Amino acid sequence: MERLDRYLTATQGKTPGEVLAWAAQEFGPTRLALASSTQVEDQLLTHLVSLLGQRITLLFLDTGRHFQETYDCWEKTREAYPGLNFRPLVPDCGELEQFLFEQGPNSFYHSVEQRKQCCNLRKVKPLSRALKGLDAWITGQRAEQSVTRAALQTVEWDEANGLFKVNPLAHWSSEQVWAEANKLRVLVNKLQTQGFLSLGCAPCTRAVAAGEDLRSGRWWWEEPEHKECGLHNRPLAVAETRSDQR
Ligand code: SF4
Repeated sequence: MERLDRYLTATQGKTPGEVLAWAAQEFGPTRLALASSTQVEDQLLTHLVSLLGQRITLLFLDTGRHFQETYDCWEKTREAYPGLNFRPLVPDCGELEQFLFEQGPNSFYHSVEQRKQCCNLRKVKPLSRALKGLDAWITGQRAEQSVTRAALQTVEWDEANGLFKVNPLAHWSSEQVWAEANKLRVLVNKLQTQGFLSLGCAPCTRAVAAGEDLRSGRWWWEEPEHKECGLHNRPLAVAETRSDQR
């Protein structure tokens, strides 16, 4: 708790670029990774991380169910930032085979529980494996994205994975993100200009109409409070963190 409080004080009022520079200094570039879905927030952070000039790892969760546009964006990003350490993450092959054998390819539509099983296998477990041995990971989450993220802080303790989570864009609006991304000519996933405001797997993501909630296109058949894949389950125990772990 003491360490987390110190981190929150240290990052207060800092720009996203300054938060990233602070994180690289505090944790060291080899103990830190950025997780990307190629959404504009992640693309902006990728660009800002590249400006630090350090070989920070960029994690890409290849669920096997992404849109082709997402793979195209991933490919272009790899080419654009050769100084970063690109690391794709995939589900365990044996577990995936068994899962598909038992539940079929579209089980996520049947219930929230089955949908979360798929997310757990394709996203949560591969990411957890990759986070082992790190001290912090960076995400593009923002507080205004959904009811599940309203209390988001710039730095949090990720209890499930046992490391810090750095959210440089926690208090930024969508307009701020897009303005900065456009100013810096950041590579953008084509889907984001076609109404896909929040990017996820193809069978679980659809475009939203103007004025609709940002994440309403994700798992649109579920209630808003269920709309997390397990990577960012809240509460993250900000108030419950044990000081002996910080
Ligand atoms: Fe499976 Fe859909 Fe989750 Fe992707 S978003 S891992 S397809 S349930």
